Amino acid sequence: MIDAADNVTPVIGLEIHVELATATKMFCRCRNHFGDPPNTNVCPVCIGMPGVLPVMNAKAVELALKVGTALNCTVAEFTKWDRKGYYYPDLPKNYQISQYDLPLSLNGWLEAPLAEGAVKKIRIRRAHLEEDAGKNVHDHPAHTGVDLNRAGVPLLEIVTEPDMNAVEEVMSLARAMHRLVRWLGASEANMQMGQMRFEPNINLHIAHGGAIHKTPIVEVKNLNSFRALERTVEYEIHRQYEAWQADPDGFRLEKMGKQNRGYDDAREQTVFQREKEEAHDYRYFPDPDLVGVVVDRPWRERIRAGIGELPLARRGRYMDGYKLTFKEADALTQDAATGDLLDSAVAAGADAKRCVNLLLGRGAAIANERGCSIAQIGITPAALAELAGMLSGGTINATAAAKVFDTVVLESGSPMVIAREQGLLAVRDGGAIEAWVDTAIAANPQAVADVQAGGKQQKKAFGFLMGQVMQLSRGTAEPGEVQRLLRSKLGIPVTD
Ligand code: ZN
Ligand code: MN
Repeated sequence: MIDAADNVTPVIGLEIHVELATATKMFCRCRNHFGDPPNTNVCPVCIGMPGVLPVMNAKAVELALKVGTALNCTVAEFTKWDRKGYYYPDLPKNYQISQYDLPLSLNGWLEAPLAEGAVKKIRIRRAHLEEDAGKNVHDHPAHTGVDLNRAGVPLLEIVTEPDMNAVEEVMSLARAMHRLVRWLGASEANMQMGQMRFEPNINLHIAHGGAIHKTPIVEVKNLNSFRALERTVEYEIHRQYEAWQADPDGFRLEKMGKQNRGYDDAREQTVFQREKEEAHDYRYFPDPDLVGVVVDRPWRERIRAGIGELPLARRGRYMDGYKLTFKEADALTQDAATGDLLDSAVAAGADAKRCVNLLLGRGAAIANERGCSIAQIGITPAALAELAGMLSGGTINATAAAKVFDTVVLESGSPMVIAREQGLLAVRDGGAIEAWVDTAIAANPQAVADVQAGGKQQKKAFGFLMGQVMQLSRGTAEPGEVQRLLRSKLGIPVTD
């Protein structure tokens, strides 16, 4: 346990690698696609044959600029490519094309939402474009395979300042970044496919005995799930504190410098890998095969104009304008298309709250079953607006609307037509409702007795009878009328 008297402040920064959603790779025309048979998307350029010439993918630069702009960065007017020297089996070129001293984007920030409405601005140091390496495949018993399909895939590296001081802040920033790159269409950011990877750097500042002790900075490589990130940061905070307690003079940044550690998923621990390398270890130098990139003002302005409303701004607008709760607004701003659907239905005249109830009720349930976003279940703004209008006008009640919603999603078509065909329009006709009420009462003497006896069982038994009537009416009976009739027939007060 951390001793409160020691006043421990975790100091955490993040490096985030994001594979960009381009059709082709960064410097050749091979397909950028996850899951193809090994070494099918390769060519002399991306496997690093001597004498080949790389050609920049402008779409990748465009997506990277979009992210940099949305991160409030200063976008470079001129940027260039550098070779970063590495030797790995999955990098047969022996270098990675990256950006060293002139990255695409510099000095921005992203807001990390904290508890209910509070935000913390996390500074972004830089965002540069590079190429991904291939992958070592360890599923053969006797040897390790190398798959170069991923070699040369455009990779955006985003580096924050060490502005985060708690696990919650790290997780919030990571989630905000995930939402942002997907929102912008810059990346699918599917973490199981390795399309977004985190590398936190962590140390502790410990106020003790009138001085600040700093523990060695640890960088943990290549975390590809939110869970691994969370466990890693929690684990490192405690590990470093205990290491410092055991050796307060030796376990210090000044003495031990920086380290790389890896995360062991099975044990949920970090393990030492190597002393951290410095920039000079990589022998960066400008790539002689690639020309620099001029990002002129019209290009920058076109990017800026294309960004539109960002997730947190939209979430705020939903809370203020549509009077949604934080939870509702947050759920509707996980991706851009779901909010677009809502906004279009409202623009067509529908009541926002009714649309939201439909989207977060059956909409979210179906999306969850299918593993897609609410927008992707395939209801149109017009159908959503029509169904919301039927609810507002009382031509359908909520139970029946849920059934119509499901049919619209499965078969498309007009909610009004479907409701009429399936006999799901609201029934307010007293005669029809009275018949259902009588049937329910006759069939359930025990519940009737419980209601009439009063006491503890009354409420439950009354709810049960209500449910029976609604079921007999297939959800079409107007609930207020059912309640009124049931109460009067059972001889209990009409109002609570
Ligand atoms: Zn290639
Ligand atoms: Mn990198």
